Amino acid sequence: MNIVVLTGAGISAESGVPTFRDADGLWEGHSVEDVATPEAFERQPTTVHRFYDARRAALSTVEPNPAHQALARLEDAVGDDLLVVTQNIDDLHERAGSTRVLHMHGELLSALCRGCQGRFPWQDAMDDFPPCPGCGATELRPDVVWFGEVPYQLDRIFLALERADLFVSIGTSGAVYPAAGFVQAASAYGARTLELNLVPSEGTHFFDEARHGPAGRLVPGWVDDLLG
Ligand SMILES: [Zn+2]
Repeated sequence: MNIVVLTGAGISAESGVPTFRDADGLWEGHSVEDVATPEAFERQPTTVHRFYDARRAALSTVEPNPAHQALARLEDAVGDDLLVVTQNIDDLHERAGSTRVLHMHGELLSALCRGCQGRFPWQDAMDDFPPCPGCGATELRPDVVWFGEVPYQLDRIFLALERADLFVSIGTSGAVYPAAGFVQAASAYGARTLELNLVPSEGTHFFDEARHGPAGRLVPGWVDDLLG
């Protein structure tokens, strides 16, 4: 059985990944949308770097939870028959042990050079405009997909959906396209579809089955059912 799992903010939230929004929905007086666009980076690169530097540094304060661990256990059992597509830019799936993870919105622990287009593993801050390890240019940006940019590897994702027998959406609001449309694509290609989310998502009616509750409880239960 070929399985595609989509994960979103809900699974990371249960690990305590900070949202960086205060009660007004702002980060240090900026709307998050205003620090997550190519235009913002052109206008105020230091501010944008500081936003992502803080999120990168915060990774060391969180740990994978039982939902991440259950998906790693599923990969151990089924290997190449599982692909995890995540909207999250943290590394919690990898730290739980998953290896087949596709970060459609990029990764905090990667830098992208606007000079040579190279990608480099990155742990440190970028607000001091460090040189690119590849070409030396001071053109590094966070390797994340900003509002208005095209998510990574959509061709590969849709190919996986086409082959999938089962599509499972975990911890996503069902509000952000194109990911919100994956369930309909998977259904059209003939996959069974399952939603595991804290509350019914906006697209919950597109799924063959939906279970609602914390991912840390639902995902291990689903993996146990599947592995029988
Ligand atoms: Zn470069």
